[in-house]
Amino acid sequence: KQFTVGLSYRPLLNLERQLICPICLEMFTKPVVILPCQHNLCRKCANDISQVSNPSCSLLLLSRGTTLGSAGRFRCPSCRHEVVLDRHGVYGLQRNLLVENIIDIYKQESARPLLKTGHPSCEEHEEEKINIYCMTCGVPTCSLCKVFGEHKGCEVAPLSDIYMKQKSALTDGIGVLVATNDRIQAFIDNLQGICRNIEDNSKAQKQALCEKFDRMYAILEERRKIMLQRITYEQDEKTHDVEGPGTHP
Ligand SMILES: [Zn+2]
Ligand SMILES: [Zn+2]
Ligand SMILES: [Zn+2]
Ligand SMILES: [Zn+2]
Repeated sequence: KQFTVGLSYRPLLNLERQLICPICLEMFTKPVVILPCQHNLCRKCANDISQVSNPSCSLLLLSRGTTLGSAGRFRCPSCRHEVVLDRHGVYGLQRNLLVENIIDIYKQESARPLLKTGHPSCEEHEEEKINIYCMTCGVPTCSLCKVFGEHKGCEVAPLSDIYMKQKSALTDGIGVLVATNDRIQAFIDNLQGICRNIEDNSKAQKQALCEKFDRMYAILEERRKIMLQRITYEQDEKTHDVEGPGTHP
């Protein structure tokens, strides 16, 4: 119940998502430039990707001072639309003053409630700050609640201690998840390797089998020819034997 104040941030959080640079993944840093495709970038980030996309241009830039010999190009990280820079490089891109102003206002607005709710106070004891944590009930509370109120018989600890403890537990948890993810990824790679291996082996076996059968067919075909010839030969011989004495005087 003490956290209902947090709900007022929600619309601002949605706004914040719109103000994230796709390169540095943080809120746009002024100056903000707008690309021909209408997407925005920090000018610094636009400069970074244009130099990565045109390494020779940055060399040119170094050797010739600030003039860019040929126009640099890069692709918009949001939509892959190609951006062609003029001789001023990223300084030739139009600034998006609307986004810059929204960021200024956003920062002012989000700083204000943070100060106000930096120390939320107890709902029952309005003068009392929420600075202890009830371990029994698993909720943050105030010292008056512990001494006289609903957490009288509960075990409590300083809120900051619990905050640090839970935060480090979460950080450890993230570490474990990342490590597990790496292991699973390695396992998947291994399995994929095995699958490829099985596929290759099966293909090789099939080919070897077909070749053996082809050789066997050739041998059989050869034998059939020889045996047919032998029968024909024996037939001629016998016919000759039978007819022989009659035809010769
Ligand atoms: Zn950026
Ligand atoms: Zn774009
Ligand atoms: Zn209280
Ligand atoms: Zn309690």
